[in-house]
Amino acid sequence: MIFEDMVLRCIDCGAEFVFTAGEQSFYSEKGLLNEPRRCPDCRDRRRQEREQGVEYPIICAECGQEATVPFVPSEDRPVYCDECYRKRREREEGRKAPRPRRFKRKEQEANR
Ligand SMILES: [Zn+2]
Ligand SMILES: [Zn+2]
Repeated sequence: MIFEDMVLRCIDCGAEFVFTAGEQSFYSEKGLLNEPRRCPDCRDRRRQEREQGVEYPIICAECGQEATVPFVPSEDRPVYCDECYRKRREREEGRKAPRPRRFKRKEQEANR
């Protein structure tokens, strides 16, 4: 596979940065399919913050209030403030029931 340098825009600071052919081949070797979303500076900063135990601002998915979490919030999962997180956990532990599973169903078109 041949890679070419790509110019990407950082989702944090909006700066353009080059995702080089070398990095792309490194990514694909590692099985990482997504291109980086942050410039090297922001990636370093986030890594450092993580090591230093910095809190990240979030909007709680339950009560909608601003809060902070001690980890990098993932973008595809809801995050909760301390209180809602605790409440949710208590609820789940109290119930001891398996959480309902949700399957993402892809629309499958029947072959004609
Ligand atoms: Zn950046
Ligand atoms: Zn909350």
